[in-house]
Amino acid sequence: MKRSPTVYMQCERCRLPFEPIKGGLCERCDRILCSADLHGDILSRWRAALTGRVICVECRQKRET
Ligand SMILES: [Zn+2]
Ligand SMILES: [Zn+2]
Repeated sequence: MKRSPTVYMQCERCRLPFEPIKGGLCERCDRILCSADLHGDILSRWRAALTGRVICVECRQKRET
C-alpha cells in the first residue's frame, strides 16, 4: 500500500507550511505564499481561479500607479 505523503511548502511571508494546492505563486512579487497571504478571502480566490491571475494580498494593497 502506497500513500503519497503531502508535501508542504513554506510560505515566504508567514513562514508557515501549507499544502501547495491551497497557496501559490504571486505573479507580481514572485513569492510562494499560503492561501491566506496570497488570496486573503474566498472571493479573491475565486477571482484568481476565474481570471488565472494570481496577485497576493500585499501586492493588491500597494497598487501601482
Ligand atoms: Zn502565509
Ligand atoms: Zn505579491
